Amino acid sequence: MFYLFTENVLNVILCLEYFSDAGMILMKKMMNMFTLITGLLLIFLLTACHAALPETLTIAPPRIDFMSMNTRIYEAQIQLMIYEPPPLPVYDVEEAPEPEPEPIRRPMVALTFDDGPSLANTGFILDVLADHDAKATFFVLGSRVEAGAELINRMFDEGHEVAGHSWGHPRLTGLGIAGITREITRTSDIIRDVSGNEPAVFFRAPYGAINNNVINVARDLGYALIRWSVDPKDWDVRCAEHVYNEVMRAVVDGSIILLHDIHVTTAMATARIVPRLIEMGFDLVTVSELLADVYGEIEPGVEYSGNRYANQSQR
Ligand SMILES: [Zn+2]
Repeated sequence: MFYLFTENVLNVILCLEYFSDAGMILMKKMMNMFTLITGLLLIFLLTACHAALPETLTIAPPRIDFMSMNTRIYEAQIQLMIYEPPPLPVYDVEEAPEPEPEPIRRPMVALTFDDGPSLANTGFILDVLADHDAKATFFVLGSRVEAGAELINRMFDEGHEVAGHSWGHPRLTGLGIAGITREITRTSDIIRDVSGNEPAVFFRAPYGAINNNVINVARDLGYALIRWSVDPKDWDVRCAEHVYNEVMRAVVDGSIILLHDIHVTTAMATARIVPRLIEMGFDLVTVSELLADVYGEIEPGVEYSGNRYANQSQR
């Protein structure tokens, strides 16, 4: 085929060469036309080939999904924020009982009666205290205990406190060590003898008069010293109204009130003082209870006066 094509072309060329110049011009035009057609054909083929290329060969730029990444980072942060520690192991433990509410502390007062017992008045005072379920402390004279043994026993039986106030009411500061010791121990002994009960671990010195000797003896014998913080001077002003008013004027929480059960006016004042103090909200307690509340433990050889120091009267 190619051979025939070539031969015909050569024949045409030879004929044209032989016959005329016009044939050459025609030949050149034909060649130009051939070149043009061939070129167009090549362009067509290239275009067709390009169109036929599979799409898979197309190289796409890498796609980064920033929105998705932000979402995942955000979710991770949320996970960290709401992280809960693993639950602790549960053991079988008995439920702790609920703590009981602390009892509300009431204001308290200690009534003290010195110089008895008095056969005339102490029984009446014990009746008043019993009627109101109030407690008091009796600082008794050793010299009066035997005669008032029944009253001493009643004091113990009804929950009152009994302490020594010396044997014969001397001013202890005027005595030596032996004399002071004798005043204190003799009184304690007779209280034990008549009642079978122990006196309190403190005593009250007559007139409140103490010095280093009194303090040293008290410490050696294991006794504290008790003074007072309210003195209505019932030993001086024999008037129940006055005693009552003075107590009411001075009484505060923690007061140790000095009274004397040897005076009828004091017994009459007590009949008004006790119910009134209870009405005011005071608990009437023994000196031991009051000191335990104010000081905790009390020490031998130390003088306690309640919440306020005494005025200067000494009786
Ligand atoms: Zn006295």
